[in-house]
Amino acid sequence: MSRLVRDVLVDAPTVAPAARGEEVYDLFSHDDDLLVVAVVDNRKPVGLVTRDQFFLRMADRHGRALFSKRPITYLMNKEPLIVEAGLPVEELNTQIVRDKPSALMDGFIAVRQGEFVGVGTSLELFTAMARESEERNHKLSALTEQLGRARIEALAASKAKSDFLATMSHEIRTPLNGVLGITQLLAATRLDKDQSEFVRVIDDSGQILMRLLNDILDLSKIEAGKMELDIQPFEPGQLARDAQTLWQARADQKTVDFTIEVNGAAEREFRGDAVRLKQVLFNLIGNAIKFTDEGTVDVSMAFHDIGRKRSVMRLEVHDTGCGICSSAQDGLFSAFTQADADTTRRHGGSGLGLAICKRLVELMGGTIGFRSAEGEGSVFWFEVPLQVHKAGETVAPAPSTPHVEQATASAPRILIAEDNAVNQAVAQGFLKLKGLEADCVDDGKQALEAVRARAYDLVLMDMEMPVMDGLEATRAIRDLQSDAATVPIIALTAHALSGVAERCRAAGMNAHVAKPIDREALFAAINEALAMDRRVNRKAA
Ligand code: ADP
Repeated sequence: MSRLVRDVLVDAPTVAPAARGEEVYDLFSHDDDLLVVAVVDNRKPVGLVTRDQFFLRMADRHGRALFSKRPITYLMNKEPLIVEAGLPVEELNTQIVRDKPSALMDGFIAVRQGEFVGVGTSLELFTAMARESEERNHKLSALTEQLGRARIEALAASKAKSDFLATMSHEIRTPLNGVLGITQLLAATRLDKDQSEFVRVIDDSGQILMRLLNDILDLSKIEAGKMELDIQPFEPGQLARDAQTLWQARADQKTVDFTIEVNGAAEREFRGDAVRLKQVLFNLIGNAIKFTDEGTVDVSMAFHDIGRKRSVMRLEVHDTGCGICSSAQDGLFSAFTQADADTTRRHGGSGLGLAICKRLVELMGGTIGFRSAEGEGSVFWFEVPLQVHKAGETVAPAPSTPHVEQATASAPRILIAEDNAVNQAVAQGFLKLKGLEADCVDDGKQALEAVRARAYDLVLMDMEMPVMDGLEATRAIRDLQSDAATVPIIALTAHALSGVAERCRAAGMNAHVAKPIDREALFAAINEALAMDRRVNRKAA
């Protein structure tokens, strides 16, 4: 609580106006600590005598003779600072500095309703102010400590939320992988028309659920500052081709014209996170097709070089769709924001896509934006700086998806290391579609023992397993002193792991396939691994 003027007054005698100089002289000389004496007439303050000034005047030539017998009114300060006793000290200080700095030297008189209450000195004032600021400092540090604790608690709560979301989506994803895998297997069996349609609906719903889980996981990772980019050489032209391959069919279904135009340097190699770039681009294209019922969706990719080593890649997605009304445009990049409940209900979606795009683009050091008018379509764009990896050289085109050769008399022996029984069944089911047989083990240690005991041509290795995980098992296999050390190993990886490709390669794996396993991707990886192995073996022979 702040102090008032009356709390800082000093214990000092007062004198009447008629008191003579020698009387005051006696007062000052008998009390070395007495700094001021107030002159009061019938409870009204009339002046103030300060010790220094009084003695100075008295010490003048003839001073003592002159003033000893005269009334003190000759010697007093007739216009001292007079303040209300109820005024807070802090305000008094401001007032002194503003109106009468000399009072800092002279002291002041406190009154209540015009009547004398007491006198104060600068010394008391300073002491009071010092005490006040000390107390304030105490309060401030207590507050800072409280704030610090609150911040730690808030961070812990936010981390707990992110951890919870990450764990939950991971836990839900494992059985969902099973559902999606079995659905694909079911789709490959002989079904009548109704059954095929049911299977398609299960697959669609599963895919939506999987996207939602991945989105939640991405967002919680970004918010927890745990999203890491996987920077690798990549070719933007491939990004464009992938977009065309993936989205053409969807555009055709809606009779929307879909084009991708690449200007300039797409055939050069850059360094960047191709997976995340694809995620952003596909999200924008997906939205454009989703919200366009007729007309066109045009994508353009352009490059703007900054010197020889860096370039800015700009992608624009133009659509002639429903557009976004101006009132809904603010906050479109915030999580769970959707422009129009009605269209969204029709088209589905979670409102997380653009929020994730923005955060990813910013993580890459770029910017994202859009312009749109209701009924007139939209343009969503983003720009990211990229390091040039190699100028002008074309990257070898990705091999077209080969088909796994049917099992022959010498069918490859395959080992599946996977702790989840449903996922084992899915992988085995996929292989069976191509007439391939596989043994299953439940963890990395068993996998290591299995390849030692029997000559396998290929191992499909889950990354996360109890006892010994996939990376450790791979390293152990590569360290074996037998032929088994060179067995091709394909990692089965969860979406959530960042830097997957690098970690797999570093551990000695040949390739990786993301879960939920896509049949064609798995067959392509198997083909490549087996072909590579044959080449190596031929050379060795
Ligand atoms: P989702 O599409 O999953 O709902 P997004 O964050 O990707 O989430 O998009 C948020 C909202 O922005 C959409 O629901 C839609 O209302 C609006 N929107 C995004 N892109 C377009 C577009 N090309 N045309 C019209 N509206 C769009």
